[in-house]
Amino acid sequence: MGKIEMTTPLVEMDGDEMTRILWKMIKDELLLPYIDLKTEYYDLGLEYRNETNDKVTMDSAEATKKYGVAVKCATITPNAARMTEYNLKEMWKSPNGTIRAALDGTVFRAPIIVKGIEPCVKNWEKPITLARHAYGDVYKNTEIKVPGEGKAELVFTAKDGTEIRETIHNFTGAGILQGIHNTDESITSFAKACFNYALDTKQDLWFATKDTISKKYDHNFKDIFQEIYEKEYEDKFKAAGIEYFYTLIDDAVARVMKAKGGFIWACKNYDGDVMSDMVSSAFGSLAMMTSVLVSPSGVYEYEAAHGTVQRHYYKHLKGEETSTNSVATIFAWTGALRKRGELDGNKELMQFADKLEKATVQTIESGKMTKDLALITSLKDVTVLNSEDFIKAVRETFESI
Ligand code: NAP
Ligand code: MG
Repeated sequence: MGKIEMTTPLVEMDGDEMTRILWKMIKDELLLPYIDLKTEYYDLGLEYRNETNDKVTMDSAEATKKYGVAVKCATITPNAARMTEYNLKEMWKSPNGTIRAALDGTVFRAPIIVKGIEPCVKNWEKPITLARHAYGDVYKNTEIKVPGEGKAELVFTAKDGTEIRETIHNFTGAGILQGIHNTDESITSFAKACFNYALDTKQDLWFATKDTISKKYDHNFKDIFQEIYEKEYEDKFKAAGIEYFYTLIDDAVARVMKAKGGFIWACKNYDGDVMSDMVSSAFGSLAMMTSVLVSPSGVYEYEAAHGTVQRHYYKHLKGEETSTNSVATIFAWTGALRKRGELDGNKELMQFADKLEKATVQTIESGKMTKDLALITSLKDVTVLNSEDFIKAVRETFESI
């Protein structure tokens, strides 16, 4: 049988440490033997980012806009320790942040469900996809530690000089103050990305804020979502047989706990930060969590939700055996290949992605897995495989189905 042909290249963003090692193994064992893989390659490994003054990251984001689909390996976000370790010219920004800003995108995170890795919440049968608004609110705040008695006001000065002024509080003693903001433009992009992704994946969309208490700020989120939904999406949602529903954040939390899963939960920035960690740990493992960045214009960048697994990499460098889970990185590739196939009308490529995912899940369900999963599985008679042997086992399953 010949290899599957591709018409349009994928944007391939290579990364760092252990995930960079897995990246090559996945390509060599699971992709290149079956696909005439066309990629436009960008090396986002920290060394090359440093060499190019991070230009390579911007270039990869531009290429993603051009081609529409990217797949990204985990990358190091430099901190003080990395400055010395890699002899960096500058503390380069997080590539994910740079790419997200360039694409104006929203991140959707979803767990990969396999039998034997049960979520802590017994009734969660299907994945819950979490969409986090990634701009503003408390993450772009201005704070004051109030020293003592005095009046705090909220003032907006328009371009023509007119003012809107509200009293926040008349302090009689020390206290604290915080100013936060968001923009209609950013909320609109977020809403559109959520509605598009719901249509794309044929899942219901939930959105929740605290609009009963925050009657202008949070209410504005609710109104923008509602307006866009009625104007552009209501008919499409009906045709697809899916639902958009808004509720209070406390109600959403209670309902999520009782739900079966199989929906997208859109959250404001802070709620998304907290809830995504709760949902992902309740589903079992960060190594089984996928992540896709979707722009309002319909550009997609797929990756694993975990980092570069530094501790395993240092073991690998010392020549010790590692058992690093490659599932989320495999699913980043299948997600991107399936989307590429969908956009190009390439059925073979889409079927390949489905089959590789199935083979990966079946391999685990047959009891072959990496150490992190072996520690939490309910399956008996488990075989713990090293990083490379797990990928080889997936290939064997793939060949057999
Ligand atoms: P991490 O790479 O996600 O790893 C944290 C720990 O989680 C690991 O030490 C390991 O636990 C476990 N783990 C995560 N992924 C695993 C996998 N695939 N298989 C098995 N175990 C896995 O997070 P980190 O150590 O905080 O960050 C390392 C680097 O990644 C940092 O430089 C950070 O900037 C970067 N990072 C990048 C991204 C991204 O590119 N999207 C995201 C997050 C972090 P044990 O050691 O106990 O086995
Ligand atoms: Mg967090």
